[in-house]
This record gives sequence, structure tokens and C-alpha cells, in this order.
Amino acid sequence: MALLNILHFPDPRLRNKAQPVAHVDDAIRGLVDDMFETMYDAPGIGLAATQVNVAQRIVVMDLSLEKNAPLCLINPEIVSRSGTEEMEEGCLSVPGVYETVQRAGRVTVRALNRDGKPFELDSDGLLAVCIQHEIDHLEGKLFVDYLSELKRTRVRKRMEKVRQHTL
Ligand code: ZN
Repeated sequence: MALLNILHFPDPRLRNKAQPVAHVDDAIRGLVDDMFETMYDAPGIGLAATQVNVAQRIVVMDLSLEKNAPLCLINPEIVSRSGTEEMEEGCLSVPGVYETVQRAGRVTVRALNRDGKPFELDSDGLLAVCIQHEIDHLEGKLFVDYLSELKRTRVRKRMEKVRQHTL
């Protein structure tokens, strides 16, 4: 297991589109395990492969307080969405920034698990928001993209300032 380096906005590599995983093999499982370790260490509740500069459709999540409910989505696809939910979101790639985003309130996602087995999951609340946030990453999309141009520019300037101070 190894900790992976998390890319920070506005790194252009966060805009890469992830490709479907062709085979869930030991290499993929190793990557999934490293992603969980990196997410727990950060700490965060979700991490997409795009954020660790791997252009493959893999997401890991754990919304439990005890950090004992790992959820891995490989090649996730939202097959239905309904309602709306507004929540304050943060992101490991945009540290220190929390903004309210409007998304679907309920989503059903279809994916492969860590063993390559297909499953379907109905979600609402934080889980539904997290699934949409992470799948966005696989499309090269960030939660700050939902903000106004003015707000996003402010976030970018703040991130660039932080970077200068943490070389
Ligand atoms: Zn994120």
C-alpha cells in the first residue's frame, strides 16, 4: 500500500477524462487499496482516480464516522436521478474551500465492485451528492465549476496563493 499524491485545483490534469477499466485485476485492486489509504489519510470521504492522476474510471468512498464502510465504484454510471439537493461541498483537490452546490437528490448508480462484480445502488442525501461529485471528477469536472465565474476566480487566486506558500 502506498499514499498517492493528490492533485490540486487548478492543475490541468484534473480536467482529464477517465477511461473505463477494461479488467478488474490485481493491479486495479492495488490501485483501489492505495486510493482508500490516501483518502483515509487525507482525510476525506471520497476520492476519484483522476485526483491521483490516474485516468481510469475508479472512485472510492467511505461516509461512515468509524471509517469502516469502504465503497468502491469501478466504471460507475448513473442510471437514474431525481429531485434536488443542496449541500455544502468540499474537495481534497480544492482544500479549504466549501461552497453550496445543487445536485440531484436521489441517484441510482451501476458499477463494478473491487472484485469486478456488477451491482446497483440507490442513494440519497450525502451519499447521492458524493457519488455525483466523484463521478464528475472522472469527467474532468470539479465542484467549483458549478459556482459563478467570480467565485471560481476567487477560489483559483486563493489556491495559487496557498501554493506559493507551501512549495
Ligand atoms: Zn472532489
